[in-house]
Amino acid sequence: MHFDIVTCLPKLIESPFSDSILKRAQKKGLVTVNIIDLRAYSTDKHKSIDDYAFGGGAGMVMMIEPIDRCLADLKSKRKYDDIIYMSPDGQRLTQSLANELSLKKNLVLLCGHYKGVDERVRQHLITREISIGDYVLSGGELAAAVLADAVIRLVPGVLSDETSALSDSFQDNLIAPPVYTRPASYKGWEVPPVLISGHQAKIDEWRHEQSVERTQKRRPDLLSNV
Ligand code: SAH
Repeated sequence: MHFDIVTCLPKLIESPFSDSILKRAQKKGLVTVNIIDLRAYSTDKHKSIDDYAFGGGAGMVMMIEPIDRCLADLKSKRKYDDIIYMSPDGQRLTQSLANELSLKKNLVLLCGHYKGVDERVRQHLITREISIGDYVLSGGELAAAVLADAVIRLVPGVLSDETSALSDSFQDNLIAPPVYTRPASYKGWEVPPVLISGHQAKIDEWRHEQSVERTQKRRPDLLSNV
Protein backbone atom coordinates (compact mmCIF):
# COMPACT_ATOMS: atom_id res chain seq x y z
CA MET A 1 0.00 0.00 0.00
CA HIS A 2 1.28 3.47 -0.84
CA PHE A 3 0.38 6.89 0.59
CA ASP A 4 1.34 10.22 -0.89
CA ILE A 5 0.68 12.95 1.65
CA VAL A 6 0.62 16.45 0.16
CA THR A 7 1.26 19.26 2.65
CA CYS A 8 2.71 22.75 2.90
CA LEU A 9 4.17 21.80 6.32
CA PRO A 10 6.00 18.46 5.85
CA LYS A 11 7.65 18.66 9.28
CA LEU A 12 4.27 18.52 10.98
CA ILE A 13 3.61 15.04 9.70
CA GLU A 14 7.00 13.32 9.64
CA SER A 15 7.23 12.07 13.23
CA PRO A 16 4.15 9.78 13.41
CA PHE A 17 5.67 7.72 10.60
CA SER A 18 9.16 7.55 12.11
CA ASP A 19 8.35 5.45 15.16
CA SER A 20 6.76 2.26 16.41
CA ILE A 21 4.18 0.37 14.33
CA LEU A 22 4.06 2.82 11.41
CA LYS A 23 7.84 2.79 11.11
CA ARG A 24 7.97 -1.02 11.26
CA ALA A 25 5.25 -1.32 8.60
CA GLN A 26 7.47 0.66 6.23
CA LYS A 27 10.60 -1.26 7.19
CA LYS A 28 8.84 -4.55 6.47
CA GLY A 29 7.97 -3.16 3.03
CA LEU A 30 4.21 -3.45 3.64
CA VAL A 31 3.55 0.26 3.29
CA THR A 32 5.32 3.22 1.74
CA VAL A 33 4.60 6.76 2.86
CA ASN A 34 5.83 9.67 0.81
CA ILE A 35 5.49 13.19 2.20
CA ILE A 36 5.34 15.82 -0.51
CA ASP A 37 6.08 19.49 0.05
CA LEU A 38 3.50 21.48 -1.86
CA ARG A 39 5.81 24.49 -2.00
CA ALA A 40 7.99 22.62 -4.48
CA TYR A 41 5.11 23.09 -6.95
CA SER A 42 4.68 26.79 -6.36
CA THR A 43 5.09 28.93 -9.47
CA ASP A 44 6.56 32.08 -7.95
CA LYS A 45 9.91 32.91 -6.42
CA HIS A 46 8.48 33.33 -2.92
CA LYS A 47 7.19 29.74 -3.04
CA SER A 48 3.70 30.92 -2.13
CA ILE A 49 0.88 28.44 -2.02
CA ASP A 50 -1.86 30.68 -0.62
CA ASP A 51 -3.52 33.99 -1.36
CA TYR A 52 -6.24 36.34 -0.07
CA ALA A 53 -9.84 35.18 -0.39
CA PHE A 54 -11.91 36.69 -3.17
CA GLY A 55 -14.67 38.71 -1.54
CA GLY A 56 -12.45 39.57 1.42
CA GLY A 57 -12.59 38.30 4.99
CA ALA A 58 -10.01 36.87 7.35
CA GLY A 59 -7.79 33.95 6.44
CA MET A 60 -5.77 32.84 3.45
CA VAL A 61 -6.90 30.30 0.87
CA MET A 62 -4.67 27.63 -0.66
CA MET A 63 -4.31 28.27 -4.39
CA ILE A 64 -5.40 25.74 -6.99
CA GLU A 65 -2.34 25.99 -9.25
CA PRO A 66 0.36 24.42 -7.05
CA ILE A 67 -2.09 21.69 -6.00
CA ASP A 68 -3.04 20.94 -9.61
CA ARG A 69 0.62 20.79 -10.65
CA CYS A 70 1.47 18.54 -7.73
CA LEU A 71 -1.43 16.12 -8.32
CA ALA A 72 -0.73 16.02 -12.07
CA ASP A 73 2.88 15.10 -11.32
CA LEU A 74 1.81 12.35 -8.90
CA LYS A 75 -0.81 10.99 -11.33
CA SER A 76 1.77 10.79 -14.12
CA LYS A 77 3.68 8.25 -12.00
CA ARG A 78 0.89 6.20 -10.39
CA LYS A 79 -2.74 5.27 -10.68
CA TYR A 80 -4.61 6.27 -7.51
CA ASP A 81 -7.64 4.58 -5.99
CA ASP A 82 -8.60 7.86 -4.34
CA ILE A 83 -7.35 11.41 -3.97
CA ILE A 84 -8.60 12.39 -0.54
CA TYR A 85 -8.94 15.93 0.78
CA MET A 86 -8.89 16.05 4.57
CA SER A 87 -11.83 18.29 5.48
CA PRO A 88 -14.01 18.87 8.56
CA ASP A 89 -17.14 18.62 6.39
CA GLY A 90 -16.09 15.35 4.71
CA GLN A 91 -17.30 11.79 5.34
CA ARG A 92 -16.65 10.90 8.99
CA LEU A 93 -13.74 8.51 9.57
CA THR A 94 -14.94 5.31 11.29
CA GLN A 95 -13.43 1.86 11.76
CA SER A 96 -15.48 0.56 8.84
CA LEU A 97 -14.17 3.32 6.56
CA ALA A 98 -10.62 2.49 7.75
CA ASN A 99 -11.29 -1.17 6.88
CA GLU A 100 -12.47 -0.15 3.42
CA LEU A 101 -9.44 2.07 2.78
CA SER A 102 -7.01 -0.63 3.96
CA LEU A 103 -7.93 -2.62 0.83
CA LYS A 104 -6.73 0.17 -1.49
CA LYS A 105 -3.31 0.29 -3.12
CA ASN A 106 -2.50 3.94 -3.75
CA LEU A 107 -3.96 6.93 -1.92
CA VAL A 108 -3.23 10.64 -1.92
CA LEU A 109 -4.04 12.59 1.24
CA LEU A 110 -4.23 16.33 0.60
CA CYS A 111 -3.82 18.47 3.71
CA GLY A 112 -5.39 21.90 3.80
CA HIS A 113 -4.25 24.82 5.91
CA TYR A 114 -5.48 28.34 6.71
CA LYS A 115 -9.08 28.66 5.46
CA GLY A 116 -8.72 25.51 3.35
CA VAL A 117 -8.28 25.01 -0.40
CA ASP A 118 -9.83 26.91 -3.31
CA GLU A 119 -13.25 25.29 -3.85
CA ARG A 120 -12.29 24.34 -7.44
CA VAL A 121 -9.75 21.87 -6.02
CA ARG A 122 -12.63 20.12 -4.28
CA GLN A 123 -14.84 20.25 -7.36
CA HIS A 124 -12.34 19.04 -9.95
CA LEU A 125 -9.16 17.55 -8.53
CA ILE A 126 -10.05 15.21 -5.71
CA THR A 127 -12.25 12.11 -5.50
CA ARG A 128 -13.22 12.05 -1.85
CA GLU A 129 -13.28 14.09 1.38
CA ILE A 130 -12.76 12.69 4.86
CA SER A 131 -13.14 14.28 8.30
CA ILE A 132 -11.71 12.85 11.51
CA GLY A 133 -14.47 14.41 13.64
CA ASP A 134 -16.70 17.40 14.24
CA TYR A 135 -14.06 19.89 15.28
CA VAL A 136 -11.74 22.15 13.33
CA LEU A 137 -7.97 21.64 13.31
CA SER A 138 -5.54 24.24 12.05
CA GLY A 139 -4.30 21.93 9.32
CA GLY A 140 -4.99 18.61 7.65
CA GLU A 141 -1.64 17.08 8.70
CA LEU A 142 -2.75 15.64 12.04
CA ALA A 143 -5.97 14.41 10.42
CA ALA A 144 -3.98 12.71 7.64
CA ALA A 145 -1.71 11.08 10.24
CA VAL A 146 -4.77 9.80 12.14
CA LEU A 147 -6.32 8.40 8.98
CA ALA A 148 -3.07 6.78 7.80
CA ASP A 149 -2.45 5.24 11.24
CA ALA A 150 -5.97 3.79 11.46
CA VAL A 151 -5.61 2.32 7.96
CA ILE A 152 -2.00 1.10 8.07
CA ARG A 153 -2.48 -0.98 11.24
CA LEU A 154 -5.15 -2.96 9.35
CA VAL A 155 -2.85 -3.90 6.47
CA PRO A 156 -2.16 -7.65 6.83
CA GLY A 157 1.22 -8.29 8.48
CA VAL A 158 1.56 -4.84 10.07
CA LEU A 159 0.37 -5.95 13.50
CA SER A 160 1.74 -9.08 15.07
CA ASP A 161 -0.80 -11.73 16.11
CA GLU A 162 -0.97 -10.74 19.72
CA THR A 163 -1.99 -7.19 18.87
CA SER A 164 -4.38 -8.29 16.16
CA ALA A 165 -6.71 -5.53 15.04
CA LEU A 166 -9.61 -7.99 15.05
CA SER A 167 -9.86 -7.82 18.84
CA ASP A 168 -9.90 -4.02 18.91
CA SER A 169 -12.87 -1.82 19.62
CA PHE A 170 -15.42 -1.20 16.82
CA GLN A 171 -14.32 -4.14 14.63
CA ASP A 172 -17.53 -6.03 15.40
CA ASN A 173 -19.58 -3.15 16.76
CA LEU A 174 -18.30 -3.95 20.24
CA ILE A 175 -15.71 -2.16 22.29
CA ALA A 176 -12.69 -4.05 23.58
CA PRO A 177 -12.74 -5.84 26.96
CA PRO A 178 -10.45 -4.65 29.80
CA VAL A 179 -6.84 -5.85 29.79
CA TYR A 180 -4.44 -6.52 32.68
CA THR A 181 -0.78 -7.42 33.12
CA ARG A 182 1.59 -8.32 35.98
CA PRO A 183 1.45 -8.02 38.96
CA ALA A 184 -1.76 -9.99 39.55
CA SER A 185 -2.24 -8.15 42.81
CA TYR A 186 -1.23 -4.51 43.33
CA LYS A 187 -2.06 -2.58 46.51
CA GLY A 188 -4.83 -5.11 47.02
CA TRP A 189 -6.32 -4.40 43.57
CA GLU A 190 -6.81 -7.82 42.03
CA VAL A 191 -6.88 -9.05 38.46
CA PRO A 192 -10.14 -10.93 37.66
CA PRO A 193 -9.33 -14.56 38.67
CA VAL A 194 -10.62 -16.03 35.39
CA LEU A 195 -7.73 -14.37 33.51
CA ILE A 196 -5.16 -16.32 35.50
CA SER A 197 -7.17 -19.57 35.56
CA GLY A 198 -5.48 -20.92 32.43
CA HIS A 199 -8.91 -21.98 31.11
CA GLN A 200 -8.94 -20.43 27.60
CA ALA A 201 -12.60 -21.10 26.77
CA LYS A 202 -13.70 -19.43 30.02
CA ILE A 203 -11.35 -16.50 29.37
CA ASP A 204 -12.79 -16.00 25.87
CA GLU A 205 -16.33 -16.16 27.25
CA TRP A 206 -15.48 -13.62 29.99
CA ARG A 207 -13.91 -11.26 27.46
CA HIS A 208 -16.94 -11.45 25.21
CA GLU A 209 -19.32 -10.79 28.13
CA GLN A 210 -17.21 -7.81 29.21
CA SER A 211 -17.23 -6.43 25.68
CA VAL A 212 -21.01 -6.64 25.46
CA GLU A 213 -21.47 -5.17 28.94
CA ARG A 214 -19.10 -2.28 28.24
CA THR A 215 -20.72 -1.55 24.92
CA GLN A 216 -24.17 -1.50 26.55
CA LYS A 217 -22.89 0.88 29.20
CA ARG A 218 -20.62 3.15 27.17
CA ARG A 219 -21.75 2.97 23.57
CA PRO A 220 -25.29 1.51 23.31
CA ASP A 221 -25.54 3.22 19.89
CA LEU A 222 -23.10 0.60 18.50
CA LEU A 223 -25.40 -2.31 19.41
CA SER A 224 -28.23 -0.88 17.34
CA ASN A 225 -25.91 -0.92 14.29
CA VAL A 226 -25.57 -4.72 14.32
N1 SAH B 1 -12.54 26.91 7.02
C1 SAH B 1 -12.67 25.50 7.09
C2 SAH B 1 -11.66 24.90 8.06
C3 SAH B 1 -10.26 25.01 7.63
S1 SAH B 1 -9.21 24.26 8.76
C4 SAH B 1 -14.05 25.13 7.58
O1 SAH B 1 -14.62 25.89 8.37
O2 SAH B 1 -14.56 24.06 7.21
C5 SAH B 1 -7.77 24.02 7.81
C6 SAH B 1 -7.55 22.63 7.26
O3 SAH B 1 -7.45 21.70 8.33
C7 SAH B 1 -8.63 22.11 6.35
O4 SAH B 1 -8.42 22.53 5.05
C8 SAH B 1 -8.48 20.60 6.50
O5 SAH B 1 -7.52 20.08 5.58
C9 SAH B 1 -7.95 20.45 7.92
N2 SAH B 1 -8.95 20.01 8.91
C10 SAH B 1 -9.48 20.77 9.90
N3 SAH B 1 -10.33 20.07 10.65
C11 SAH B 1 -10.38 18.83 10.12
C12 SAH B 1 -11.10 17.64 10.47
N4 SAH B 1 -11.95 17.60 11.48
N5 SAH B 1 -10.89 16.54 9.72
C13 SAH B 1 -10.03 16.57 8.67
N6 SAH B 1 -9.32 17.65 8.30
C14 SAH B 1 -9.48 18.77 9.02
